[in-house]
Amino acid sequence: MSEKRWIAETLFDVLGLRMSYRADKVIRETRTGHQHLVLFKHPFFGKVLMLDGATQITERDEFVYQEMMSHVPLFAHGRAREILIIGGGDCGIAEEVLKHKTVKRLTQVEIDPAIIALSKEHFSAFTRPVFADKRFESVIGDGVKYVRQSERRFDVIIVDSTDPQGAGKVLFSEKFYAACKACMNKGGVLVTQNGVPIFQLRELISSVTRFRRLFTDGGCYLAAIPTYIGGHLAMGWATDNRALRHVSIKTLAARYRKAGNFSTKYWTPEVHAAAFALPRFIGELVAKAKPR
Ligand code: SAM
Repeated sequence: MSEKRWIAETLFDVLGLRMSYRADKVIRETRTGHQHLVLFKHPFFGKVLMLDGATQITERDEFVYQEMMSHVPLFAHGRAREILIIGGGDCGIAEEVLKHKTVKRLTQVEIDPAIIALSKEHFSAFTRPVFADKRFESVIGDGVKYVRQSERRFDVIIVDSTDPQGAGKVLFSEKFYAACKACMNKGGVLVTQNGVPIFQLRELISSVTRFRRLFTDGGCYLAAIPTYIGGHLAMGWATDNRALRHVSIKTLAARYRKAGNFSTKYWTPEVHAAAFALPRFIGELVAKAKPR
């Protein structure tokens, strides 16, 4: 255990940009079999997990990302039963997905067992209800191998990955998206963590271009996560059902009531619908993503 220390996010060093946290206490710092991990306590954000110099989750603002990565695809789909999460070792998204009574089975494929073990110890608000839920299946393995070999078919696939570096790089490839499509049910939807457009625009354009080669509708929706610096975070959206992004607020509200009006801190039917309205600079970027 070490004392107060400034810990920098190095993800945007190439841009000459660093955000630093003054850690009151470093709880764990190590190299796992896959990545560098540091977990520390921050006076404002609470526990913060960083992998390979990139913020993954903080106790203070995790709800924005976890709710928008789970409730948007599930309420847009409306009848999602079989769900797959790739990555997601902190189990924050799994916890949100399992709030939907309509979900029959949720499988999570995480490559790094150290993240699950750490989350059971330090993010038990997520892991306890998730691992107690009979609908949940935890698989330790590489997400791209899993989708390639899986005989199962999914209504919603959520890729809660690290950035396109290290083990996470392959999760932004066309072969991975194609393998995801091959194990999706008709009308299914794929959503991905796709970076902050103002700093990671190439990442967004290349993903959307690849979505559009494989699916009828490829694009993104947005949310603002305070510790994912850069303003908007883009969440990739890929489906053959063009209607899913246009589900009305009235229908979303009805589906939310049917799902039991469980508590949310960010997602609402109105925020859901608005998330697909892209500011011009992002809309123009996405429009450029033409499948050649
Ligand atoms: N919300 C975070 C973000 O946006 O940066 C991501 C959180 S989650 C902790 C990311 C997880 O993806 C990590 O636990 C990492 O081990 C996992 N991961 C990275 N590459 C993977 C792969 N190829 N297959 C499965 N999981 C992978």
